[in-house]
Amino acid sequence: MSKLAINGGRPLWAAGWPAWPTATESTRQKTLECLESGRWAISGPKAEGPGSEAAFAREFADFLGARHCVPTTNGTSALVTALEALDVGAGDEVIVPGITWVASASTAMAVNALPVIVDVDPRTLCLDPAAVEAAITPRTKALSIVHLYNSVCDLDALTELCRRYGLGLIEDCAQAHGARWRGRAVGLWGDVGTFSMQQTKLLTAGEGGVAVTDDDDLYRRMYQLRSDGRSRVADPRVGEMELSLTGEVMGSNYCMPELTAAVLSGQLLELPAQNKMRAENAATLDASLREIPGVAPVEALEGVTERTHYYYVFRIDPEAFAGFDASVVSAALRAETGAPFQTTYPPLPGHPLLRPDSKRRYGAIPGIERLTQTSVPAAEDAYRCCVTLHHPALLADPAQMAVLAEAVAKVAQNAGELAQVSGDMENPL
Ligand SMILES: *Cc1c(COP(=O)(O)O)cnc(C)c1O
Repeated sequence: MSKLAINGGRPLWAAGWPAWPTATESTRQKTLECLESGRWAISGPKAEGPGSEAAFAREFADFLGARHCVPTTNGTSALVTALEALDVGAGDEVIVPGITWVASASTAMAVNALPVIVDVDPRTLCLDPAAVEAAITPRTKALSIVHLYNSVCDLDALTELCRRYGLGLIEDCAQAHGARWRGRAVGLWGDVGTFSMQQTKLLTAGEGGVAVTDDDDLYRRMYQLRSDGRSRVADPRVGEMELSLTGEVMGSNYCMPELTAAVLSGQLLELPAQNKMRAENAATLDASLREIPGVAPVEALEGVTERTHYYYVFRIDPEAFAGFDASVVSAALRAETGAPFQTTYPPLPGHPLLRPDSKRRYGAIPGIERLTQTSVPAAEDAYRCCVTLHHPALLADPAQMAVLAEAVAKVAQNAGELAQVSGDMENPL
């Protein structure tokens, strides 16, 4: 008789995991106030008070310790805004990591630049600084780095490289709201930090994004870049328009809706306590998983002073799982627990959503035909050997962490049974 739930055995846990996202009383309150204010966009006439978007921008900037914050429609448009603010364009190369969401590449292509995919550090799954240096050419204009899952990039090495080679640095913090390196928030180490507030992220309104900077000129450019080239009137009166037709730089409309900002203001109140709970539960899980042969949690670099957990990540040695890789093991873990275990993203060169051949205009980017041919062995290895767990599971009762660790041990002990697993082992993205 089979023991593993994936083969019809009894699951270890069937009582579910915390839902994400959740509506709180303060979120309801702020949303209702915005709804009734009659002011639903920053391009509408000014109402009483600062407006939800401006209020959230200030609150999020203060949360990070940033000088400026420009809200956008989503994390993708925040990245495009950042690239355009740094004047990245045709003929330029932008270095992006081998494991990331496809937006790292698509946004470079959106400004007519070539994404150059570079391999990751197997310890963090973030850009490997030595590989970055080897990939720099005279056309390299910027790095678009990603603090992936529960890791922070080696910011000492990457900021030093950018200084030495005169490169722009965009920190994509879509997965790291509140993480800190040497005491200072991620997002403030480069020229621009971008964040996503999409449904799955640590802070969310379903969709949303921001770009933050300490640089007054970049702020001025980004403000206009996402509001069709308009900037804010210094002291508008109620009923007047708040945006004037400056046109210092041609923009697009990536403005965050006021209702989105109101939701985010409510959700932001919960973030510090949620980050703390996720970190405590992750530390408990780390300790239990380190006891299991062939299993190793991804550790933070020494410079990380506050760790966030968009996904919890651990590495498996397939030898300890009868030769099965993370796609099979994560499926077995889902069956045991009902918790959202997965693989990492597929490595970017072979990612199903990276399709430079699918739009004629990408043909104008020199070197684009080699994009999907890049070799990233450490990223390939991580895809085979790393199991990820989406963060709502870390908001469960601390006692439930034992269930997760028990499931990993059970799957390891009975891994021989995985040979019976049939059917489609594809992971959901
Ligand atoms: C989610 C995400 C994005 C895109 O953000 P959206 O808000 O979905 O546009 C970009 N980069 C990374 C690393 C992400 O995780």
